[in-house]
Amino acid sequence: MKIGTKILHTGNEIDPATGAVSIPIYNAATFRQTSVDASGPYDYSRSGNPTRDALEAIIASLEGGVKGFAFSSGMAAISSVFLLFSPGDHLVACEDVYVGAYRVLTKLFSRLGIEATFVDFTDIAKIREAVRPNTRALYLESPSNPLLKITDLRAVSALAKEKGLLCIIDNTFMTPYLQRPIEYGMDIVIHSATKYLGGHSDLIAGLAVAADAKLAAQIKFIQNSFGAVLGPQDSWLLMRGIKTLKARMDMHQKGAARLAEWLQGRPEVKEVFFPGLAGHPGREIHESQADGPGGIVSFRLQTEEMTKIFLSRVRLPVLGVSLGGVESIITYPVTMSHAAMHPDHRKRVGVTGDLVRFSVGIEDPDDLIEDLDSALRQA
Ligand SMILES: *Cc1c(COP(=O)(O)O)cnc(C)c1O
Repeated sequence: MKIGTKILHTGNEIDPATGAVSIPIYNAATFRQTSVDASGPYDYSRSGNPTRDALEAIIASLEGGVKGFAFSSGMAAISSVFLLFSPGDHLVACEDVYVGAYRVLTKLFSRLGIEATFVDFTDIAKIREAVRPNTRALYLESPSNPLLKITDLRAVSALAKEKGLLCIIDNTFMTPYLQRPIEYGMDIVIHSATKYLGGHSDLIAGLAVAADAKLAAQIKFIQNSFGAVLGPQDSWLLMRGIKTLKARMDMHQKGAARLAEWLQGRPEVKEVFFPGLAGHPGREIHESQADGPGGIVSFRLQTEEMTKIFLSRVRLPVLGVSLGGVESIITYPVTMSHAAMHPDHRKRVGVTGDLVRFSVGIEDPDDLIEDLDSALRQA
C-alpha cells in the first residue's frame, strides 16, 4: 500500500467497539476495574486512553515504528525523549535545530548535566569530530529550519551505528507522507503535530515514534511518569487532521514550488531556499530520502529595510510564528521564531534581518503571487 493510502487505512482508524469511522473521544479520566487485581486494557488516562491509543497506533504505522506516543506539544515530545539521558551524557545536535529544542538543551537540560554540542549536520566529518566518549545520541532535522539545509539520513545513521549512538530526528517539516526516517535507520522520530499533521493551526500537539521495543518501553515509562500526555479531544482533532494530510501536502508543495520559482526571478529577492529548486544544496540527497520538497520556502530580500517594508505590506499570509497550516503563514525569523536563539548562534546559522520564512498555504497560488508581487513592489 502506498503511504498516501495508508494515511487513511492503517487499520487503527475504525472504532473497534462500534465500527464508527471516527474514533470516539473517550473523555474518561479513569476506568472501572473488575476486581482489585484485575483491570481491563485501561486503568487511568495518563497511562493510556483509547482515543490517544488510536492516534499513537496511526503515527507508529505511518512512520514504520513499533510504537507511537502522543504528547501535549512538540516540545513535550522532544523534552520527554531527552529524559532518556542522564547527567554526564552528551548529545550532538544540528546547529540549525528548532529554537525550542536549542533552548531546552542550553537552558534546561544543561542544568541537569546533559550537554549538547551544535554542529553543521550537512558535514558528516563535523559530526564525527564532535562525538565524545560520553556522547549518547545525534539529534537532527532535515530539511532544517529556516534555511532548509539537507542532512544525509543514511550517512548520519551509519555514523550513529558505528559509534553506538541513538539517532533522533524531528520530522515535522516533512511528515511521514514525505519522509520516513526509520527506513534509513533512525531510532526515534519526533513531530510537532501542531504543524502539518494537525494542519489547521487549531491544535498544539507532539508525537514520538520508537523504532524498537526497548526504546518504546523506555519512552512509555517516561510518558507515563513525566505525564505530558495529549488529551482525548486533541487526540481526536489530530486524527481528523491526519486524514487529509496527503491532500494538503500535495497542495502545499505545488504552491511552494511555484512560489519558489517565481521568487527566484524577482530583482528584490537575493536568495531563495527551497529543496525543490535546481541548485539547492543537498537537493539530490533530499530526493533520495524524501518524496517531495515540502511546503516551506525561505528567502532573502536585498536589504533588511526592504524586508521589513515587504512584511508590513503582505495581506494574505498571516504574519506570525508556526507553519504547516492550511493558511499561508509568513515569519520574520530574526525577531519571531528565532528570538530565543543567542544572537551569535543566530548569525552562525544564517538567520539575519533580510530573511523571510514562508509556510505556503493551500490558497490559490495566483492570489499569493499577486499579493507578494504587490508587497515586493512597495519594498
Ligand atoms: C513547532 C516546532 C516544534 C515545537 O512544537 P510545539 O508543538 O510548538 O511544541 C518542534 N520542532 C519543529 C521543527 C517545529 O517546527
